[in-house]
Amino acid sequence: MESPSPRCPICLDEGFRVEEGIGGASRAVPCECARSRGPGSLIESARIPPRFERCSFESYHAFSHRQRLAKQEIERFAREYPVQEYGMLLMGPPGVGKTHLAVALMNHLIHEKGVGCLFIDFQDLLKEIQNSYNAASDLTEMALLQPVFSCEVLVLDDLGARKPSAWVADTLSHVINTRYNQMRTTILTTNYQDDPPGKEEATLSEKISDRMRSRLHEMCRTIEITGDDYRKKVHKSRTDFFSQR
Ligand code: ADP
Repeated sequence: MESPSPRCPICLDEGFRVEEGIGGASRAVPCECARSRGPGSLIESARIPPRFERCSFESYHAFSHRQRLAKQEIERFAREYPVQEYGMLLMGPPGVGKTHLAVALMNHLIHEKGVGCLFIDFQDLLKEIQNSYNAASDLTEMALLQPVFSCEVLVLDDLGARKPSAWVADTLSHVINTRYNQMRTTILTTNYQDDPPGKEEATLSEKISDRMRSRLHEMCRTIEITGDDYRKKVHKSRTDFFSQR
């Protein structure tokens, strides 16, 4: 079956168009059509994974004190955007809702303020960049990274989940430094902590390098979120419910 023709002849419904920058360098910028078509199109170009699409501040339950503080702080950031000049690093063990809160922020910015956002899983991005080195690939590393550099608000999810290497640190620093220099907001999430509770657990610095960790200190407010793993909580309450019947 023939695929329907794109509605926007400029960006072919990608949500981004290429603009000539200073010195002839081209860069991707959000296409006007995304804004004018309203939240539906901003949502499409935000590439939120279906599992998280419905995440909102209302659907986030703060069980611990830290979760309550995190929710308050991120909601305040959303309300005040674009006044804040910093990004955020959401740090804490798996399942406390870091991605949920990051997507709740995106949904708020898209629906309430018409801001162009982009969700990127850091591991997927690294894989796509690696694939782009393959001679058969149509996409270059630059083409993959352009929307990552130029979107107004970037959520970079799951930092550090991969084996640390100079290449990973370089790629991250390329993304972070470019966005920082262009004064664009970046929200990052990571399961790695500065002071993990278990001595054998890796720190974020070990995963992304000391240099990158201190760069993130400079450009982001660190929000530590602790609490129980929500998935385990839900699983336990289901099991308890059925065992009582
Ligand atoms: P993390 O990023 O901290 O590993 P996620 O945000 O991926 O955690 O959460 C895993 C799942 O649990 C998601 O479906 C998320 O919506 C849900 N979840 C996590 N914490 C909460 C919470 N406090 N309230 C409601 N849902 C939550």
